[in-house]
Order: sequence, then C-alpha cells, then structure tokens
Amino acid sequence: MTQRIPLQDLTSDAAVEHHSPQAKTTGRSPSTSGHIYVREIQGFFQRIRRYSNWLLIALVTGVTFVGYVTPVGGLVRDLFSLEAHPWALFWIGFFTLFTYLNAGWLRHQVCLHMCPYARFQSAMFDSHTLIVSYDSARGEPRRGHRKEVAEAAAGDCIDCELCVQVCPTGIDIRDGLQYECIGCAACIDACDSVMARIDKPLGLIRYTTERALEGKPTRFWRPQLLAYMAALFSMVVLLIGFLNARVPMDVEVARDRQTLFESTAEGRIINYYTVTLRNQDTKEHQYALSATGLPGLRLQGADTFVLAANETRQLRVALNADASALTQPSHPVVLHIAALDEPSISSNIETRFLGSTRQ
Ligand code: SF4
Ligand code: SF4
Repeated sequence: MTQRIPLQDLTSDAAVEHHSPQAKTTGRSPSTSGHIYVREIQGFFQRIRRYSNWLLIALVTGVTFVGYVTPVGGLVRDLFSLEAHPWALFWIGFFTLFTYLNAGWLRHQVCLHMCPYARFQSAMFDSHTLIVSYDSARGEPRRGHRKEVAEAAAGDCIDCELCVQVCPTGIDIRDGLQYECIGCAACIDACDSVMARIDKPLGLIRYTTERALEGKPTRFWRPQLLAYMAALFSMVVLLIGFLNARVPMDVEVARDRQTLFESTAEGRIINYYTVTLRNQDTKEHQYALSATGLPGLRLQGADTFVLAANETRQLRVALNADASALTQPSHPVVLHIAALDEPSISSNIETRFLGSTRQ
C-alpha cells in the first residue's frame, strides 16, 4: 500500500528530491538505528547541496536580469574584482532573493496564485480542447477503501491517490478540471503505472476532450482556434519586424549639470554633454559623431571612435556656437551618431543648447 505524502510536503524540498511517493517511503524506513543516523547525515548533505544549487541558480538569474540593463561582461568582471556599483549589487541581491524564494520555497503558492498560465488556459479552452482529464465513466465507482462497492460494480480507479500525491499543485484531477492544473501530466504517468500493475487498460487519466469523454465527436478546426492562430501569426510577424528594424546601438545624451554654459572671449558659447554609447552588435564598429541645429555649430573633441562588440563608452562632448546665432535661451540641437562601416547603424538624439542672448 502506498504511503500518502501530506500536501504541505509537496511545497517543501522533499517534493524535489523525493517526487515519487515510493522514494519517500523507502527513504523513511530504515531497519536499524545505525541506518537512521546514516540517512540523517546523508539527508543533511543532500539538503545543503540542494539549497546551494538553488542559490547558485538564483544568483545566475539575478546577474542575468541586471545584465539586461548594463553590459554583462563588465558586470561579471566588476563582481569578481569587488568593484560592482552598489545599485548593481542591490538589484542582483533583490532578484537572487526573490528567485530563491519563489522558485525554491514558494513554488506551490506561485503555481496556485501567481502563475497566469492556468488563467489563460481556462479563458481559452472549450469542450473540444485537449486537456488532462479523468475518465469518470470508467473509473467510478472507486474501489479500494470503499467496502460498500461490490467488486463487480467497481470502476477501474482503486482510490490509491497516487495521482493526487504527484500533482505539484496538490489537486485531485478526479474532481474535474480545476484552474490550478498546469497540465504537467504527472497524474497521467502515475495513474498509468497503477493501471499497468493492476492489469487494466492505460489512460484512466489521459489527454482528451470533454466531448470525447461524453462520447461525442471532437472538432479540431474551430473559429477561436483560427483566431488564436491569426493572433499568434501577427505577433510573430511583428516580432520579426521589430528584430529586423532593431539598431544594434544604444545612445544616451545627458547635459552637464554643473555648468549650464560657458562664454569665451571670442563671443562663443560652449555647452558640455556626456554621451553614453553602447555597441550592441557582435562586431567592432567605428562611429562618427556630429551635431546640427544652429548655424556654425562645432563639435569639440574626438568625433570618431572605435567600440568593440558589446563595449560601452562614455564621452565628454562640447558643442560650441556663436553667441550671435542664439535667438533664445534654449535651442534644440541634434547629435548624430553613425557607424562608418555600416550606415544603417545610426541614431539622432535631440538635446538642448543653452546660452545667453545678451551678448
Ligand atoms: S496535469 Fe495532473 S498532476 Fe499536473 S497539475 Fe494537472 S492535475 Fe496536477
Ligand atoms: S492514480 Fe489512478 S487509480 Fe489511483 S486514485 Fe488516481 S485515478 Fe484512481
């Protein structure tokens, strides 16, 4: 007789290492006290290894998330040299902690209350949809514990509850489809193993449709299926379009906050900017920087530079204009950045040029 795993154990580490009830049962039935200690020590080291693995996976996830907004190569280098920015450390810690908790300790709650999959599924399925179902016509009345069910009248379900024990969300599929079901099919495998042992046909729990269970024909092509396919196709086309239009370069321009502008003895006005450029391509590029927006506008400093693949660089740039060209305290100007070897990689960033008009 299979021993039942309490539901709360399914939320703990026991569910990972001892997913099958048999494994749990054999792991708790040592015959001598010596065996008990050996198993306790083995269990302790297993838990250490398991939690360390969780932590490692959570840490990699945290670094990967932060790597979306900052070059991941430099981030990893900074982590190893203990020079990472405090904000980077904070967000890595944040994502690591919540990945560890959500994927390690709270996965049962995540499946039940946070995962949108089941909600989408229940909104989209109909009686023709293939779902994990229990064949109650074949399985009921259950035998096993119920002595009142005569052997001849009993269905194929022996009420062993193996399907409930293996379910990661702890539901009983024999009560019908429930929103907690994530369609993992673990109950199908568990029940098939029972059916094989008691010499009954497999598939008491199987992928089938509500209509098939009622003995009615199932239709594959339905209007909503075509609508879902059209929606999916549109999204794929949009995604491909976005990927094709993507420029593998990211540019940010920030005005110098210390000095609004400088005036020179020659009657010119200078504004300072910090340009942050990321080469998001897989190869090196040479870039050219220029500016437009005011008559006689000049760029001071290096106007061409080379960035390796995935390199980020900050440049301090000065724009210089004749004061007589300024008709108002703030003028829009545009910084143009383009890869010399690949003109399709270019970007125009609008910023402001400040200066006094009382010259
Ligand atoms: S498919 Fe079966 S085991 Fe998986 S979540 Fe649904 S009921 Fe539970
Ligand atoms: S595993 Fe199969 S036989 Fe056992 S309780 Fe579930 S449905 Fe019934």
